[in-house]
Amino acid sequence: MDSRYESMETLRNKCAACYRQFNKMEHLVEHMRTSFHSGHEPMCGICRKHCRSFESLREHLIAGPLPKQECKNIFNIRGCRFCLAILDSSNTRRVHEGRCQFSNVNSGLISRFASMGIHDQLDNYRARGTQVVALACKMVGGGSDGSLDMCARVCIIDEYENIIFHTYVKPPLPVTNYRYESTGIRPEHLKDAMPVKQVQKRIREFLCNGEAMWKIRPKGSKARILVGHGLDHDLDRLQLDYPSIVIRDTAKYPPLMKTSKLSNSLKYLTQAYLGYDIQTGIQDPYDDCVATMRLYMRMRSQAHRKEDYPLASDPQNRNNFALSRQRELERMNPEEMLEISRSDYYCWCLDS
Ligand SMILES: [Zn+2]
Ligand SMILES: [Zn+2]
Ligand SMILES: [Zn+2]
Ligand SMILES: [Zn+2]
Repeated sequence: MDSRYESMETLRNKCAACYRQFNKMEHLVEHMRTSFHSGHEPMCGICRKHCRSFESLREHLIAGPLPKQECKNIFNIRGCRFCLAILDSSNTRRVHEGRCQFSNVNSGLISRFASMGIHDQLDNYRARGTQVVALACKMVGGGSDGSLDMCARVCIIDEYENIIFHTYVKPPLPVTNYRYESTGIRPEHLKDAMPVKQVQKRIREFLCNGEAMWKIRPKGSKARILVGHGLDHDLDRLQLDYPSIVIRDTAKYPPLMKTSKLSNSLKYLTQAYLGYDIQTGIQDPYDDCVATMRLYMRMRSQAHRKEDYPLASDPQNRNNFALSRQRELERMNPEEMLEISRSDYYCWCLDS
């Protein structure tokens, strides 16, 4: 076999999404079967390479061990440091970045105002438009060594960053460490605070919004979409169950996770994608709510192609890469295979 033929063969076996090359077509088919490429993956605005996460896209464009030089050069001139989009010129980039970078001045102000009192709109909150809320807690320590996390403060905001609920919570066990340096919480704050059982009940009613828990569906139910970071832990400490189909967790959303598939911290995500600092000094859960809501809104507003059946798990897509179709798949070209490939996670653009 001459080498020219061989390189053409590899080109034919190149993944149309991540550009990996395979010696044999059957290997590319196997790769497509397990990689769940789709138009919902973060994508380089220059070479159109699909990446598993924004972190790997960032490595491709800026900082990684192997940034693609051509893409890196263009990114340096007209790429946005926060959302990683490529703009038309360095001028449009300047204007765009100004809008893309958030400042924490605003949220800092409101949070100082918020900490002055307790806000409770849970029972009379009327949402305009969609019903998405963000929740965050601050924990104090219980147990003999103070290492048991107990929720002592909780905040809920709407998508316009208005406070719906912001209160101290009385933990179920005695507090052995107030963690004052980061929580700012003192014994007098919790003395007459709402007990966790009551907080849990009221938040559950608010989230379900008149829908029975078992009836909650991804679309078309009255239940509210819940945004947060590491919500498993927060909900656990509030002793609250909520169906995962209506949870949007920035710690578990694949495009916002590390290349290693571990979670990023909210502090890191806010710094990298929103361009400001949180969780310095005494922390207000309002700031965490705002950061997760902004991340959610950014992910939701991504302009992705709409498919009728966007998920690999949709019954209509179950046979797309079936072993029984192996021969047929091996005759397809890489673009055709990408065309029938679907995402293995629910992209938040589908909420819009
Ligand atoms: Zn690939
Ligand atoms: Zn999408
Ligand atoms: Zn590229
Ligand atoms: Zn941007």
